[in-house]
This record gives sequence, structure tokens and C-alpha cells, in this order.
Amino acid sequence: MKTHGYNNNHDETKPAQIWFENSQEGLTLFVVLYTLACRWQKCVSCNLPSLCSSRHIGFESLMKQIDNLYADSEILRQREEIKKVILSNNGSVLDEKTFSSTALMYFLAKTNMLLPNLAVFSLETRPEFVDVAELEFLSRALKEGKTPTDLEIAVGFEAFNDRIRNEVFNKGLTLKVFEDFVEKVAKYHYRLKCYFMQKPVAGISDEEAIQDIKKGIDYLSAIASRFNLPVNMHLNPTFVARGTFLEEAFLRGEYQPPKLADVIQAVKHAQGKGISIYVSLFDEGLASPGGSFIRQGDEELVKKLEEFNSTQDFSFLN
Ligand code: SF4
Repeated sequence: MKTHGYNNNHDETKPAQIWFENSQEGLTLFVVLYTLACRWQKCVSCNLPSLCSSRHIGFESLMKQIDNLYADSEILRQREEIKKVILSNNGSVLDEKTFSSTALMYFLAKTNMLLPNLAVFSLETRPEFVDVAELEFLSRALKEGKTPTDLEIAVGFEAFNDRIRNEVFNKGLTLKVFEDFVEKVAKYHYRLKCYFMQKPVAGISDEEAIQDIKKGIDYLSAIASRFNLPVNMHLNPTFVARGTFLEEAFLRGEYQPPKLADVIQAVKHAQGKGISIYVSLFDEGLASPGGSFIRQGDEELVKKLEEFNSTQDFSFLN
């Protein structure tokens, strides 16, 4: 069972987490605002809600978080170089019960004012919260920035195999719901990011995990050409998240995180498939001791993947 709690002692005027990444778009700022935790909470290997609150966080506090975010000296120093912002609350930014609409507008306004070269603004959400009128409004507001900014909608898909995704992992996402959502996004030619996890549950072999990612790549590639929209797979090699069912399996010796060499093998399948891939190499500080997918001696592989992330050049993976 899940045993992780919430981070109720966190200062509600400060974001939950921020970090920088280098993606194909350039310098990327990842922002996790501190809100009421994800209301789904059923995904068996996820402890993201443990960084969030069990109580509602109102728009005044969220606006203070945004003020504090944009007062950060590291962000201000690099503000002209930031090309992409990913906005998250470790759940669904478009779920108005957890993330205030006023705060979302305020975030956009400050981002337009302070990040003059922003090319992509990405919002994390479950597909059921996507409302076309809201997306139209957000995209219009983004166009008012100093440079044109594309809107990207990022959703968790986690595993391609239906049984693993819905019966084992408990994602609650059918292909029908996903494709209906893609149809909405495609109408406006927004970008699409899909989070996948390599080896998200216990009970599957390393080879099955590689095959699942390869099938996910083929599926997203077909989606990109069928709906004619830019698609990115955000691949999270699974780490053992504290306080989850996966941690219990790990402690019983029934689960090991995927090897980075296997992640590279899966990613190579995307060459020539018309989608981009970003491999996450950060466990957000949420891994159980010894439960990371980065092992001693992996430095070279990490470097290769970082180069790949910012260039999409497959020769780094050879
Ligand atoms: S994976 Fe996403 S939807 Fe599932 S419980 Fe975690 S935060 Fe919620």
C-alpha cells in the first residue's frame, strides 16, 4: 500500500521545486508550484503527491509563489536564455480544484513580462481536465509575449501496454480518452508531450520494459502523423519512489530499476520516427535509498543521454 504522506509543513508562498534542464528547445525551467495534491492519487509507483499539500492552497499564496519564483536570482540571471517553461503542480495544472485559474493567468502574465525569448510553454495535466476554451485563451495570451510562444500540453501515459497501464499501474487512461484529447489539441496545432516510464511496475522483465517503450514510440509516431502535430516522448526511467507499492516490491527483492543501457536501447528505436524524445535523469529527490536508475559507473551513459536530450542526435547513443 502507499504510505507516503504530504508535505504540509512547506511554506505555501514558495514553489515546491524548481530546476533547470537542457532540452532540444534550449534552456528549460521546470516549475512545480505547491498546491493541493493530485486528486487521482491511484498510480501505484508515484509519490509526487508527497511534495504537495493535503489542504487547498488559495490563489493569493500561489501568486506569492510566482512572485518568489520570478525573484530568484538564478532565474533572473538567465531569463533571456530561457526557451521553455514546464509548469506543473505534480498533478494537473488544468484541474481548477487544485490550481487556481487566477494564479494560472498571473503566471502567464509574469512569464510574458520576464522571459522575452520563451518559445514553448508546457502545462502538465491529466487529459480529462483539458478544456478547449481555456486552451484557446492561454494560447492567445502566450502570443502577446515578445516572441511567439507555442503551447504544449503534457500528459502522463506511463506504459503502452493497456493491462500494465490501467490494471497494474492504475493510470485510468484508455486509448479512446487519449485520442479524443489529442484530437482537441491537434485542432489548434498545439504541441503534445507524453510522459512514459520505463519499467513502471514490478513483475515485468527488462526486455519487456524495453519492448513497451518501443511500442509506445511506434504509437506516438503514428499519432504524430495521423493528427499532424509535434509530439515529444518524455521518458522517465523508473526510480523506486518512497512510500509506494513499488518500494515494497523493491524491498522484497522483486524489483530493480531499469538499466541506463536498456533505456538507450529503447530510445534508439525512435530514430527516423518523427517524434522527439527527452530522457529524464532526475529523480526529484523522491527515490528510496538504492532505488535510482543511475548506478555507479553510469557517468558516461548519463553524459551521452544529456547530449542526446539537447541535440536529438542519435550518434551520441552509439
Ligand atoms: S502519476 Fe500523476 S496522475 Fe498518477 S497519482 Fe501521480 S501525479 Fe497523480
